[in-house]
Amino acid sequence: MLRCQRSIYSVFLLFTLTNAFDITSLEPIADKNIQTGNRMLYEREINANISQAVAAKEDAADGVIDVNEIPVRYDDAQLWRIYNISEHMQNNMPLAETLENQFGGVIWKENSKFLDISINKDNLKAARSYLAEHNIDKEVVHTNIQELIDAVELEGIKATQSEAGSRTKKQARSGINWKDYHDLETIYDFMREIRSKFPKICRLYSIGKTAEGRDLKVLRISENPREYKKIWIDGGIHAREWISPATVTFIVYQILSKWESQPAYIKQRTWYFMPVVNPDGYVYSRNVNRLWRKNRSPSSSSSCYGVDLNRNFNINWNGRGSSTNPCSDTYRGTTPASELETKAVENFLSRRKHNLSAYLTYHSYGQYIVYPWAYKAVKVKDSAALQRVGKTAAERILSKTGTVYRSDVTHALLGIAGGGSDDWARAACGAKYVYTVELRDKGEYGFQLPPSQIRGTAEEGMIVAETVAQAIAL
Ligand SMILES: [Zn+2]
Repeated sequence: MLRCQRSIYSVFLLFTLTNAFDITSLEPIADKNIQTGNRMLYEREINANISQAVAAKEDAADGVIDVNEIPVRYDDAQLWRIYNISEHMQNNMPLAETLENQFGGVIWKENSKFLDISINKDNLKAARSYLAEHNIDKEVVHTNIQELIDAVELEGIKATQSEAGSRTKKQARSGINWKDYHDLETIYDFMREIRSKFPKICRLYSIGKTAEGRDLKVLRISENPREYKKIWIDGGIHAREWISPATVTFIVYQILSKWESQPAYIKQRTWYFMPVVNPDGYVYSRNVNRLWRKNRSPSSSSSCYGVDLNRNFNINWNGRGSSTNPCSDTYRGTTPASELETKAVENFLSRRKHNLSAYLTYHSYGQYIVYPWAYKAVKVKDSAALQRVGKTAAERILSKTGTVYRSDVTHALLGIAGGGSDDWARAACGAKYVYTVELRDKGEYGFQLPPSQIRGTAEEGMIVAETVAQAIAL
């Protein structure tokens, strides 16, 4: 139903396009056909998905249903937060795994303090009984996940609609803004647009393809790529964390919009941006299953899809905190860097590790700025410097937006996990300032962060990037 509403609104938006690209150095290309073309393409994609879903349902009677294309709904699904999971239970019978395998639970967040997990309507009763049997308390955070998902969609539509008719010449051709979440095409159009506006300092790479044939795009910004120290920033490793690509594109925009007046610690750097490391997953999360986390590669041993890319990097790949089960949300894959996305990032960065000073990867949620190691309960030797810079970023965020972020070593805050991109960047490329930034919020909305919070959250992401850039000696 809501999808249909969105389609109607999207058609309306074809003629009323939003503005919000307040950037004088990015002159517009007022080509209405190009602008509407993107929207129409998106519209067609949505309609195609709906048609496929309908066709799939119709084919069900003939036994040829493709369940992967049917939009997943979360009506009356609940989000639970479970505290104080005893060590005994974790060692003998990991609760998250049990809820995932036996009750179809979707793990949202698991750390040393609590587990956030959503349970579908049909499994609520059984899962409740299981927790009661084992004397485990839970807090019901939400009673209808679908409502949360729908609320974000509606808010985004309203936020962009309210701009109707006020589109100015400063609007980006891509139609990007930070009032709503955008589809992959808009993000990629934005990257192309940036490259064409700043051809002397920007380069756009396609560093590989995904299992579904999508490009993996990286934007480089540099006045002197041979000499300047490098900062890599990525987002969207996990499909459902939509605030992450939004934040990375915002950082690109912030840096370039005032390029000429930027301080040396911004200008005399080589920046690499990969806003969507997992495009297949992102598209799937937007069109089919909002809570999808992994990529979309098929498994040879199971009917389940996808590998958790942040468990697939070649660093203690076989370690704790990842799953061997292809149906799990933390499935590590068949070998280290078995996934096209992981391999592409590893190859690209390995060849550019000279002068690589920082690796920043944006995720959500939790409001943490964490640094290696994640795969073992040990700090890196220069962890004092990492703690100092992380803490400075958190203090700056607090004074600017009032949001509380905590900085610490990863294993202490989030628990141990092998195969993460951050640990890999540190171990294999020698990057000093390696941080995983868990953006807003602390679980109130989780992945369904309201569009009204995109801008503020992205500013917080920018503060981390600036603070790290400043910490690196010129
Ligand atoms: Zn994540």
